Amino acid sequence: MSLKQKLISIVGEQYVSDGLAEKYVYSFDMTENPPKRPAMVVMPESVQQLQQIVRIANKDRVPLVPFVTGQNIGGLTIPQVDDAVTVDLKRMNKIVEVDDEAMYAVVEPGVTFGHLRKYLDEHNPSLTYTYPLAPPYTSVLANALLQGLCDLSTMRGAMGDFINGLEAILPTGEIVRAGSAIMGDGNWFGRYPLPDLVGLFSGWQGMSGFVTKIAVQLWPKKQFTRHAALFTFGEVPTTELLKRIARAQLIDDADCMSLSIVKMLLGVSPPVQVYGGEPDYGTLLTLSGNIEKEADAKYELIETFVEDARKNESRQLLVDWDAISRMLGDQAKSWVDFPSDAFKVLTEYDGLTWVGTYIHPKHWGEALSGGRKIVEKYGFELMAYLKPMNSMHFGEFKFIIRFPKDDATVEKVRHCNEELLDFALSLKALPYKTPVWAAKKLQQNADPGFVELLKRIRKTLDPNGIMNPGRWGL
Ligand SMILES: Cc1cc2nc3c(=O)[nH]c(=O)nc-3n(C[C@H](O)[C@H](O)[C@H](O)COP(=O)(O)OP(=O)(O)OC[C@H]3O[C@@H](n4cnc5c(N)ncnc54)[C@H](O)[C@@H]3O)c2cc1C
Repeated sequence: MSLKQKLISIVGEQYVSDGLAEKYVYSFDMTENPPKRPAMVVMPESVQQLQQIVRIANKDRVPLVPFVTGQNIGGLTIPQVDDAVTVDLKRMNKIVEVDDEAMYAVVEPGVTFGHLRKYLDEHNPSLTYTYPLAPPYTSVLANALLQGLCDLSTMRGAMGDFINGLEAILPTGEIVRAGSAIMGDGNWFGRYPLPDLVGLFSGWQGMSGFVTKIAVQLWPKKQFTRHAALFTFGEVPTTELLKRIARAQLIDDADCMSLSIVKMLLGVSPPVQVYGGEPDYGTLLTLSGNIEKEADAKYELIETFVEDARKNESRQLLVDWDAISRMLGDQAKSWVDFPSDAFKVLTEYDGLTWVGTYIHPKHWGEALSGGRKIVEKYGFELMAYLKPMNSMHFGEFKFIIRFPKDDATVEKVRHCNEELLDFALSLKALPYKTPVWAAKKLQQNADPGFVELLKRIRKTLDPNGIMNPGRWGL
């Protein structure tokens, strides 16, 4: 029996395709990473179906690429080898369990931020998940595995830290669990005290197996939420002020953006100009309290920090969101209610990319000013985006480039991103959602023992090398 026939016997004819149109659709994403077509696409609906697919692939040495919506902005679902089968997990879309008392949700890969938000609003309104700037139709599970950043990350860290446990199918076909649910269902409260085997899947970009369920932490919704816009000048003064605010644990989240992104949100069409005397950065600050007084007190403290900062740069400015809402009405509301449609400003063209990293706070300001010079040298719109992470244990920054995908621009984007990454690596920053080219550079700069361990674990889990071969250049 051919591979196609075997897959059809598992999922049905409707959910397997080797048609040109499907192969094309799954061959690229918005980034500059080179496209490559899979040989086939299959869409399982259940863990059992996926397990059968993996068993066949392991026996017949068929490369598999996990896919949910392909919106990772890292070229991560583009096959790297010939004859790969893309496994689209959208149909596995059950919210398996929400535990109100231990505050977690267990979801399958196809559950999106939009699904989860709607479900919680309807069934568990006192709880919230944390939502990214990403489109609401992207996968909660994939985002958590990619260790992304969402709207509680300033307070609570990268999404990998929100994972309580998971269920996965190993490349050899066995179903395993990691975290407290090794004791049974209804018990996904955490990862400790245990050998932390979540780490065999978190950050692996689908190179170690298929995660079929993930338990993620939910948080109590605070009664009172306030927002403010902070306008700042200069890279180091901006990062220093954000560090002070984040470290005092006053804010749930901070989204700091080049002024050009703020202008895009206001509807200015490309190319966006920033004029002399305008602030360099606009930051959306979100803070909350159980009573109004708590939120107000946090806001007052932020005001004193900004006042202090004005001693060095008198133009730093804090604006209460009420003032912005009065001016912009529902538009202002849509920016603070995540998952929001603010992502649309990034998708103006068919091309979108970034070099994003996590970095030591001491290098944050330097990374921003050095990166800015590189982007300006290449003549792209300046679209820096940064977030204090985990109460300022580390910082995030990225330089976003939206671009039309003609050959000359794609080439220019490649050079710019490479220079940005080289600069970031020289500051010991770690790139996230690394495309293959970036992962190779990271490995050249990283401790060789780490790279060796990575290869050894991979070989142990996947002796026939079927999971996403070529990713990370491995
Ligand atoms: C405009 C825009 C804004 C964005 N903003 C943010 C942001 O603010 N924060 C943020 O973190 N991200 C952001 N992203 C990135 C992205 O949307 C998220 O990381 C997203 O949730 C990934 O989901 P996906 O469905 O696109 O996953 P995919 O791209 O389909 O998959 C991502 C990776 O996970 C692997 N994978 C998928 N499913 C499994 C599985 N079951 N088991 C093992 N491996 C698997 C894939 O092989 C791939 O390596 C943004 C993207 C866009 C387009």
